[in-house]
This record gives sequence, structure tokens and C-alpha cells, in this order.
Amino acid sequence: MFVVLALAVLASGCSGGGEGPGRAARPAPGQQPAKAAPPEAPPARALHGYAGRLRAAHRARVAAARRWGLGQVPLTPPAPPAHKPEITTRKGFEVDGHEELGLPPVFTGVPTEDKVVFLTIDDGAEKDPAFLRMMNELKIPYTAFLSDYLVKDDYGYFKKLQDLGVGLNNHTLHHPYLPALSYARQKREICGMQDVIEERYGKRPTLFRPPYGNYDRDTLRAAKTCGVRYAPLWDEEVFVDHWEYREEDRDLHPGDIVLSHFRGRGDWKGTMPDMVRRFMDKVTAKGYAVARLEDYL
Ligand SMILES: [Zn+2]
Repeated sequence: MFVVLALAVLASGCSGGGEGPGRAARPAPGQQPAKAAPPEAPPARALHGYAGRLRAAHRARVAAARRWGLGQVPLTPPAPPAHKPEITTRKGFEVDGHEELGLPPVFTGVPTEDKVVFLTIDDGAEKDPAFLRMMNELKIPYTAFLSDYLVKDDYGYFKKLQDLGVGLNNHTLHHPYLPALSYARQKREICGMQDVIEERYGKRPTLFRPPYGNYDRDTLRAAKTCGVRYAPLWDEEVFVDHWEYREEDRDLHPGDIVLSHFRGRGDWKGTMPDMVRRFMDKVTAKGYAVARLEDYL
């Protein structure tokens, strides 16, 4: 009789009588507890959050592509390369003593196997707010090469580009045909623009593109003296209504640099967004993403 009673008390104390907090907190076999936070829980939540953000970003890109009239949603570029490719001067583009003098390399594309192209936009005449919105909403990276005589009536427009992550680079003060000028005058054109960009935008460019793609040894010597490290030209040029190609195969290649301009209806039969549509529709249809040139240098 005594023994049976004692067993009943023990059983009761052990199980909590079938109700109460002690029991509710125990996980069922094969299940994680609902409230207690073992070490696995936070990473699982973070992963869910990251995937959620990716999905949200993709939805935003799809909506932006539709809003701006693109044929397809732009492809996402790979992460910037951990090891930067070695940039050398394209064969046939060297000047005397190019390598010995350590002059900035002149190149039309970047050696990479990534299926990316780079968009570069020159001069600065057109200051289209719709273009700013379009590029920001589509998250298309690009690099600007500015000439002071065209941008000086509205430095603020290009400050907005910079605030959105666009690199502002050197395309001389007055856009001259540089090989016709003395070393001193070339230096004034190039180094003068370095100073303007540093003063207005707080950062001295490392990229310089000679107007019309024309340069000589003095151009590169002058550029080097005021901090230029690279002289990128281009492989293709895109307009609102057509493309032009440097290569005979008239095609895109991994690492190609594409040129366009800050131009509008004054020069073109269309707007900068029209140019971007023509650019993106070919790039995406050919399976390329647009990456940031500076990320590969
Ligand atoms: Zn130009």
C-alpha cells in the first residue's frame, strides 16, 4: 500500500501532471524547440533574410525593366574579380617608350572570361534627369568621362551621378585634338581637368580618355604626371539608333568597353534612355551583364 502511493507521487512529479510550462517547453522528437534559440537559429534567419532581399531586388529589376521599356531584364554581373586582370596596352596602340616610361596603358577592353561589358559615357552636354532615374532604377553601372567646357554649367548634375556610385573621370578641359598641341598645352588640358574634378567632386581621377581617342607620347606623359593610371578607349560605340564596332566580327566580347555620350535630341534622333534601351537590349540578348570598369582595374 505504501509503495504504490510513493510511485504515484514520483510519477506525478516527473511529468508535471500532463500540463504546465515544464512540459510545453520540451521539443517533440525530431523537432526544434519553438522558443529556445540554439546556435543554428540566427544564421538560418539571416539566410532567409538574404534570400528575401535578393528576391525583392529581382522583383524591383523586373518592374524597372518593364517601366523603362527594356526587352529583357538585365543580367546581374558576377562579383568584382578578387584578382584584377593585368591591363596592358593593346597591340598597335603603343607610343615610343610606352612600357619603359611606365606610361598609362591604352586599351579597348579588359582581359576577362566573365561575360560582362563596360559602359562608358563621354563629354557631358546632355543632363537628362530621366537618364539618372533610369540607370539608378535598373542598377546599371557606368563610368563617365567629362570635359569641363560641357559640364561647367551644371556641375550639380554630375554630383548626383557620383552620389549614385558613378566614377567621374577625365576627358580634358576643352576636348581638343591633343596630338596637335605642345606638351605644355596638353598638360594644361589634362592636368587642369584633374584639378577641376578634384575640386568639384573631391576625388582625383585615375582614368583619362583622350578626345576622339587621339593621343601621342606627350599625351600619356602629361597624363602620368598628374595622376592618371589608365587610358581606356573602346571596342564599340552605341547611339540611339545603331551600334558601331572596332572589330571585324561586329560582335560583343567578354570585357569589351562600350562608348556612348551624354547627348540628347540636339545630336540624336532620341534621348539618353533611348540609347540605354538600344544598349541593354543587345547586351542582354547576347547573354552579357554590365559591370563596373573600375572594379576590373
Ligand atoms: Zn568626347
